[in-house]
Amino acid sequence: MAHILALHAHPDDIEILAGGTLALLAAVGHTITIATATAGEGGSAVHDPAGTGRIRQAEADAAAALIGADYRCLGFADLGVFNDDPSRRVVTELIRSVAPDLVITASPVDYHPDHEAISVLVRDACFAAPVANYRTGPAAATATIPALYFMDSIGGRDREGVRIRRHFAVNVATTFATKQAMLAQHQSQADWVARQHGITDHLADMAAWTRRVGRDFSVDYAEGFRQYRHPPYPTVPVLQGLLGELVVVAET
Ligand SMILES: [Zn+2]
Repeated sequence: MAHILALHAHPDDIEILAGGTLALLAAVGHTITIATATAGEGGSAVHDPAGTGRIRQAEADAAAALIGADYRCLGFADLGVFNDDPSRRVVTELIRSVAPDLVITASPVDYHPDHEAISVLVRDACFAAPVANYRTGPAAATATIPALYFMDSIGGRDREGVRIRRHFAVNVATTFATKQAMLAQHQSQADWVARQHGITDHLADMAAWTRRVGRDFSVDYAEGFRQYRHPPYPTVPVLQGLLGELVVVAET
């Protein structure tokens, strides 16, 4: 069985972009760790930052528990994720402590600065994880660089509005209900995304997005991914191998 680490910026990002895929992997017995760089403490106009962070971590924990996953928060500040030396060591220590077979993180290009920053941090922390002389804490260096994947950006486009091509998608029709239940745990975000993003129903918006990716791959519901293949990162299709026939490669 494999250990999968999904690491993104804020509580609810992973549920929206990869929740169905993680539910599929969990259902067949793989171990899942869901982690966020921040507690998303900016995501409220009602509660103060500390209170919002506590609420959102509890929501993320409840969402992860639905698929038997662990949830970890790195404790970076919301809108305060930067690609710097201390942050890279924190992310590397997380990867070393989890020792995942593969890592799934944010798109390198996305609408939110925290998404782009955590993507670069994770990419470089995967590289650093097996470098024993790069000291980060008690966790031992990993044996190798883990296989690395990027989720879609929010909306599947770059900052110029150009569509980002995926390498493949995962057919999540059988776990879509679980994905919905995971996102529904993030109750505090229903009002926030209406106010901040003009999204009046975040569950319906996620459903429309997952159907939209499905349309691109001629299935009902899907989530898109790219594998980072630059040497010396592994090019073995680890995630695709775990999912087998649920992987769809022909984007229309
Ligand atoms: Zn986010």
